[in-house]
Amino acid sequence: MASEQGFFAQVNRSFDKAAALTDHSPELLGQIRECNSVYHITFPIKRDDGKIETIEAWRAEHSHHKLPTKGGIRYSPLVNEDEVMALAALMTYKCAIVEVPFGGAKGGIKIDRREYSDAELERITRRYTFELLRKNFIGPGVDVPAPDYGTSSREMSWIVDTYLTLTGGELNALGCVTGKPIAQGGIRGRTEATGKGVFYGIREACALPEDMKELGLATGVDGKRVVVQGLGNVGYHAARYLQDAGAMLVGLAEYEGAIAAPGGLDLEKVMVHRRDTGSILGFPGATDIPASSDALELECDVLVPAALENQIHAENAGRLQTKIIAEAANGPTSADADEILAERGVMILPDAFLNAGGVTVSYFEWVKNLSHLRFGRMEKRHDEQARRRVLEALAERTQGGSFSDEELRELSRGAGEHDLVHSGLEETMAIAYHQMRDTRARHEDKTDLRTASLINAIDKIAICYSDLGIFP
Ligand code: GLU
Repeated sequence: MASEQGFFAQVNRSFDKAAALTDHSPELLGQIRECNSVYHITFPIKRDDGKIETIEAWRAEHSHHKLPTKGGIRYSPLVNEDEVMALAALMTYKCAIVEVPFGGAKGGIKIDRREYSDAELERITRRYTFELLRKNFIGPGVDVPAPDYGTSSREMSWIVDTYLTLTGGELNALGCVTGKPIAQGGIRGRTEATGKGVFYGIREACALPEDMKELGLATGVDGKRVVVQGLGNVGYHAARYLQDAGAMLVGLAEYEGAIAAPGGLDLEKVMVHRRDTGSILGFPGATDIPASSDALELECDVLVPAALENQIHAENAGRLQTKIIAEAANGPTSADADEILAERGVMILPDAFLNAGGVTVSYFEWVKNLSHLRFGRMEKRHDEQARRRVLEALAERTQGGSFSDEELRELSRGAGEHDLVHSGLEETMAIAYHQMRDTRARHEDKTDLRTASLINAIDKIAICYSDLGIFP
């Protein structure tokens, strides 16, 4: 894994850099930095062929300064305790940066999901949920998992079903996990939320002429040359929104290799090609790059690592030819690479800010579950009727003016759940970006956006401890 240090140590190195620029006491900073609890589980599972296998899994709750704790569950053969703790810490800072009222957590099951049947994955997921519940590591007010690398709404549906079965009759039980299918209490817009948040974050950064000028780039997403590593849920949606906004996808990377085309790739066509042939390679009109990680070194304006941690490290950081790194994944840039890239004037949009769209919409889903009411249900029609009255009055007063039925429908349309979720997400990402940028400016631009985002996170978390009278 990490070439220089363990992952959690790298997160803490970034934390320490930010902490040194705050005036909180070392005791308080120590409390924020440490991981509060880690649960390591092993349990046996019966494979379809009758063999018994031992599965290893974790759940780390990094910070209980706010409850519940929150964070995804990943299924990957690379999962280990250090990784889960590091990712849980990133969740703590992420939630603080976008003002989502949770502590950070993360879970992991050490399996390669491609080697297990659906029935086996279901048995593993249900047993893991049972183990979490047994030790009070899951619950709407305790710790709320979500999808992450290798998991999706399907695993969340098994988790909520197991939880409901075991707890029976708990009023807010649906809020025990987010990222659920809509029919089981999920929210519209959650699937694409992280990718959409990544897009909003990049768009916000690219909208500021003075920042773009410093990088030698034009303002706006339109025309930007983008390379995306990882076409999973996050990378795919981020690429889609970027392409829709006029960006050119000049490189796309997956496990099996990468493809490049300076004139741009059509994302949907690439996805169809991969589905049909089983590989991204061999896409008509593109150049194959057999070693996938070489795609990170393609010349571009925005590089979007959307796969796993530690992809950009001391060894390759000097060779990158991008102006902006948009960290859609968690921890894609090592702490050493961070320093090399800062020196080279590369702008890094940090993970704990940029990929916070997922947990932001998870928060909306959790609120929906606790309120037992779909967003927009009460006001949608009322808003439409009020707008209609205004439009009709306006038409009456305008000489000869009138609206067609179609225009009236369109202009008066009230907001449904999907509209409200996207609006809340857009607002959240914009505010967080400007808070981060303002903090950087307060430090006379001597610091980078990652440090600025962590300063903001630390300050917000510190407030939660300020009235306790424990810390100096
Ligand atoms: N796994 C996602 C993340 O890393 C989402 C977490 C959540 O929604 O709780 O941010």
